[in-house]
Amino acid sequence: MNAQSTTFPTAALIDGKWITSSKTFPVLDPATGSKLADVPDLNADDARRAIDAAHQAFPAWAAKPAKDRSAILRRWYELLLAETESLAQLMTAEQGKPLCEARKEVVYGASFVEWFAEEGKRAYGHTIPTTGASRRYLTIKQPIGVVAAITPWNFPIAMITRKVSSALAAGCTIVVKPSEETPLCALAVAKLAVDAGVPAGVFNVITTMDAASVGQALTGDDRVRKLTFTGSTEVGKILYRQSADTIKKLTLELGGNAPLIVFDDADLERSIAAAMASKFRNAGQTCVCANRILVQSGIYDRFVASLHEATSKLHVAPGRDPQSTIGPLINADAITKVKALLADAVAKGAKIEVGGTPDAHGPLFFTPTIVTGVKPRMAIANEEIFGPVASLIRFDTEAEAIAIANDTPYGLAAYLFSQNVSRAWRVAEALEAGMVGINEGMFSNEVAPFGGVKQSGLGREGAQEGLEEYLETKFLCIGGITS
Ligand code: ADP
Repeated sequence: MNAQSTTFPTAALIDGKWITSSKTFPVLDPATGSKLADVPDLNADDARRAIDAAHQAFPAWAAKPAKDRSAILRRWYELLLAETESLAQLMTAEQGKPLCEARKEVVYGASFVEWFAEEGKRAYGHTIPTTGASRRYLTIKQPIGVVAAITPWNFPIAMITRKVSSALAAGCTIVVKPSEETPLCALAVAKLAVDAGVPAGVFNVITTMDAASVGQALTGDDRVRKLTFTGSTEVGKILYRQSADTIKKLTLELGGNAPLIVFDDADLERSIAAAMASKFRNAGQTCVCANRILVQSGIYDRFVASLHEATSKLHVAPGRDPQSTIGPLINADAITKVKALLADAVAKGAKIEVGGTPDAHGPLFFTPTIVTGVKPRMAIANEEIFGPVASLIRFDTEAEAIAIANDTPYGLAAYLFSQNVSRAWRVAEALEAGMVGINEGMFSNEVAPFGGVKQSGLGREGAQEGLEEYLETKFLCIGGITS
């Protein structure tokens, strides 16, 4: 492992203890294929031990005044920020994204901890006007209990801090199973939480290659009252089914197929900048990436030319190279998928304007690509590309754009570009999505509710809604009040 990251643990965390195992799995640098570390390959029994610890720690953590929990979370936030550079180096080594993006993710990830440190103090219930003279009504908010979190590799710090900070602020304890591609970032943020004073058992991390068995242990346990998952719709459906027997509360942040719609009356420069940010950030590996770029006929040719020019300025290189704006994809499967989607599109009449080939930096690098003439029925317009490929669909009318945009089982993010206020409102209201960027290509932040509709998921993270996900509302009815 590189010198910057040696201070971070490579052991799992159960009940405040760093756990090693004779069985391990390697963590690889996607830019070079070299091994960064070995981490414990834990199993379902270990997951149950972590649940035991979280269950035992729950009453004391829940009983702590919100202000005291807040002070600990605030310290965690400060430690995350203080370690921005070393965490970013670790993330780039483990996940591949360019260092400049990794630094932004650390700050973005920390922002949730800051927000929930504050918001946890505002878990207000309310009083309800009575229906009978001798009774009084009120509600109180209580933490739901032990939470299980299963997280992905594409934002290996932010997807953990977003879940853990909201759960802990509400008074819940948590067991996190990070992606097997990026366990080191998870362990690093957990170490900083321990350093900040998070008590033993409140935050546990199970590293494993056997996601299915650990997932079953987490979903099958009645003591786990809530599951929060970010990942594919396919795995989300498995976890949804597995959670049925114990009626868990669920937050599911699943796949997307975001349309980015550029109307003739759009500000071209703005729409290009936004399309570039939305499409090529993290080499196209985000669930809110513009997966389908819908461009109206009147602006289509100018948009393609400008996008071509902007794309030519991207710099493919290992993330640690300061010039890099496009790093490697996460693994060989990701490269295979991108190639297959492009081959299918070309076979059905689409045209690769630029790119479309592997990059010389190594087997996981792919050149930024623009493909035009995409039709809604092609696989590339229906599946998450998760690679640096801008896929362009031409349309004529507003109604046609809305119909194409909504013709998908997904409904996470959508983007529209128009200078016409009426159109912007109309289209934003018509789009079936949990989040709509209007003349904006990047909108996720700690104060806004993140989440999807349809098969993109359930629940919201961040914002006031994000705290609510970890709380139960208890109704108190006080009777026998005499006048
Ligand atoms: P991606 O394709 O982006 O890797 P996945 O949905 O496969 O998305 O993975 C997201 C998270 O879900 C990872 O932590 C992964 O280990 C975990 N995971 C994958 N399959 C299962 C499963 N059957 N049960 C529980 N967790 C799973």
